Amino acid sequence: MAGLELDDVTKVYGDENAGVVAVEDVSVEVPDGDFLVLVGPSGCGKSTTLRMIAGLEAVTDGEVRLGDRTINEVSAQDRDIAMVFQSYALYPHKTVRANMAFGLEESTELSETEIDETVEETAALMGIDELLDRKPGELSGGQQQRVALGRAIVRDPDAFLMDEPLSNLDAKLRAEMRTELQHLQEQLGVTTVYVTHDQTEAMTMGDRIAVLNQGELQQVGTPLECYHEPNNLFVAGFIGEPSMNFFDGRLDGAWVATDAFDYPLGPATSDDLEDGSELVLGIRPEDIRVSDRRTGDRGFEAGVSVVEPMGNENIIHLRFDGATAVEEFIATTEGVPTVSGGDRVTVEFPEEAIHLFDAESGTAVKNRRLAFTGAVDGMLP
Ligand code: ADP
Repeated sequence: MAGLELDDVTKVYGDENAGVVAVEDVSVEVPDGDFLVLVGPSGCGKSTTLRMIAGLEAVTDGEVRLGDRTINEVSAQDRDIAMVFQSYALYPHKTVRANMAFGLEESTELSETEIDETVEETAALMGIDELLDRKPGELSGGQQQRVALGRAIVRDPDAFLMDEPLSNLDAKLRAEMRTELQHLQEQLGVTTVYVTHDQTEAMTMGDRIAVLNQGELQQVGTPLECYHEPNNLFVAGFIGEPSMNFFDGRLDGAWVATDAFDYPLGPATSDDLEDGSELVLGIRPEDIRVSDRRTGDRGFEAGVSVVEPMGNENIIHLRFDGATAVEEFIATTEGVPTVSGGDRVTVEFPEEAIHLFDAESGTAVKNRRLAFTGAVDGMLP
């Protein structure tokens, strides 16, 4: 087993000077035994990054290190890294046992008996020991994915790379497999990089997540750090469902003036900012307090357009006077909904919950602090 490190890794497809820059100067470290989730929208460079680690794609610039050696020039077969894909890529005519044994037969000197023992141990670990003599066509999607994982595990690699391995499964099975994979990864203690475009998967699975956009790394942190202390507008908007609400504004003395409201900042915040600067004020839906009473100078009147009762929470679509449909914002409340479409309400944005971003660069200039959320050491209370 070994840790993994990317040091200023860049990938340009095609001509080095005029090609597509798929990944740019990405540096990230995955300590030995850790689980890193690489997350970002489609086309942001996740698969390319993973394929460079696997040795399936050449690195244009920078270094990939596994343990204490640089592996840029090491061929994929010699990297001792196992990869699991969205498509299970099992051999259809071989049994589960033969599928799992194949890699070992090719890459190790183990005897047939030793291979058989290893396959059976791993199959038991994965709960597929009853299926060893079946062919992939006789298995469900979830079972096939388990075999694909088992085939990777049986090789006892230095690192696992997983490229959206659960996306072909239905929602319930996906949620189950997420938990199972996490347990398994902890139990095996193998350094793992897991790629997904799904922020929920990233939030629930990773020790740490690395958020990528347009080939550039935006933030590496625990899921809760990325959620509560986003580095920039992109991370703030990408992590969290429903998304953070954003309002364009400008600093006017100790106030953020937007089209819909003027928001007073405490001196500690406004003193650090340049008067007149263009800002984006952000607030998460669950931090907005919705009531029928005026609540001081951080409460503003708004109209309710739609309420979606989800059972555990209500998604309330709101609009300030004069705003268009695209300028709607969202608040979430728990329990039985107390407002409905057409109501006039007061929405309060508590100061400790707001985020401020520089409108031009997108950089966060004020975040709510993790401490305010009651979360300790990245764990929910
Ligand atoms: P993701 O996995 O995040 O969806 P990819 O790593 O597949 O993103 O792609 C990143 C960027 O690189 C995209 O703009 C994509 O079009 C481009 N790209 C990927 N593979 C190739 C290739 N073989 N040749 C040229 N461009 C590619």
